[in-house]
Amino acid sequence: MPDAYTQLLNKIIEMGRLAAVDALVQWDQDTYMPDQGVSARAEMCAQVAITSHQLQTADALGELLASNSETGDPIRDTNIREAKRDYERACKLPAELVEQLSWASSLAKSAWAQARQENDFQAFAPHLEELLGLVRQKADALGYDSEPYDALVDEYEPGAKTAEIASLFGSLREELVPLVRELTQSPNQIDDEIVRRHYPEAAQEALCRHLAAAICFDFSAGRLDRSVHPFCTSMGPRDVRVTTRFDEQFFSPAIFGVLHEVGHGLYEQGLDPAHQFTPMGAATSLGIHESQSRLWENMVGRSLPFWKCHFASAQEYFPEALGSISLNDFHRAINKSAPSLIRVEADEVTYNLHIILRFEIERELVSGRLAVKDVPEAWNQKSQEILGLAPSNDSDGCLQDIHWSLAGFGYFPTYALGNLYAAQFYKQASQDLGNLDEQIARGEAQPLREWLRVNIHQHGKRFRAGELCERVTGKRLTTAPLMQYLSGKYKPLYGLA
Ligand code: ZN
Repeated sequence: MPDAYTQLLNKIIEMGRLAAVDALVQWDQDTYMPDQGVSARAEMCAQVAITSHQLQTADALGELLASNSETGDPIRDTNIREAKRDYERACKLPAELVEQLSWASSLAKSAWAQARQENDFQAFAPHLEELLGLVRQKADALGYDSEPYDALVDEYEPGAKTAEIASLFGSLREELVPLVRELTQSPNQIDDEIVRRHYPEAAQEALCRHLAAAICFDFSAGRLDRSVHPFCTSMGPRDVRVTTRFDEQFFSPAIFGVLHEVGHGLYEQGLDPAHQFTPMGAATSLGIHESQSRLWENMVGRSLPFWKCHFASAQEYFPEALGSISLNDFHRAINKSAPSLIRVEADEVTYNLHIILRFEIERELVSGRLAVKDVPEAWNQKSQEILGLAPSNDSDGCLQDIHWSLAGFGYFPTYALGNLYAAQFYKQASQDLGNLDEQIARGEAQPLREWLRVNIHQHGKRFRAGELCERVTGKRLTTAPLMQYLSGKYKPLYGLA
């Protein structure tokens, strides 16, 4: 008879394998599945969900968890701690509530799509109301320290507290708003006409593959395919899938989208294969995941050193659009910053303001301090305060994102946390590696990839995001590195240095 830990580990691996099957089936649905496959696929996914839930809440698992206690071995203790967390969460949520949430959000998703198309918030409002009722029940079932939003954010960013996020975002807002104003008022505005020329799709794809390989994405352990919405998913460190989409009239979405998704992919490929299908072999939080994608997309991918190395290749792929363009003009064009209404099109400076707006609104919604019917007005008012512009219709305002229709309250903060972590990690990597800019300019991405692997990837879920940040950088997460990075980069770009 294997010992109690080995028995537990076997159960954990069973669940991990099933989660990987689910990921593969979903990847296929979003990439290659023929249209008529949709209803059989829905049945398959539902079956996987039911079987997963049975495994996650099985009495035998509960008994094994009860007979495993801390051992002092960090690998074992991480797996035990995380398995306990998942088991407790799964058991605390009544099956009926899980089912109600799943139904309500599938109805809300199609209602949202239509409401956005028709600019009709009132049509979506009853769905939002119902989902909020259900997520409040969910928060109550899970339990929380000071406000229900804590329980929701904990699903995506384990251990994060609403009050701490609010304090970080409060400082970020105070520091960012004046920077955005300075950039907006500069006489040296950036024209990004260069990146909005004709960029043939086949050449875009070739450049995407070239750049993905240049930043060390391992194509023998990964793939790049197409999907309507770009994403990264993983069946383990040796099978990581990223996707993109192409717009022939715009250079940026595919190129920087791929650098972003490959950043996620490098985290997945950097997890230790010895711990495949277990918490020690899984990413620690969405915020840390996003830090990896933002670091490669923005801090590396939109930097001058990176294009010092790769601009000549880009010119070869696009002789008509880029043949007579200087490196500096290209670098300015890919870094245009201006307040805009749509989050997914925002640049790296103003993006964070979109997240702060959403965080402030959904926190109030979940607590009940803001009524659903008042969302459009609150949104427009905050948008004016924070971004300096308000949408003329709800489709470009409070209806623009899918997240609420999926009951994903608590998800938005992870995007801005990712930017904050990325800047703090990048600053530390630059200190540790010495001449990072020169390495990047020579096309040597490997030292940085290795630094991330050793300091972040290989630890899996061993450390919570905040603890990981302190271990790697010696400091708690603050806004200073991101603000230094943004001011240091954008003031010169806008002739303000
Ligand atoms: Zn991402």
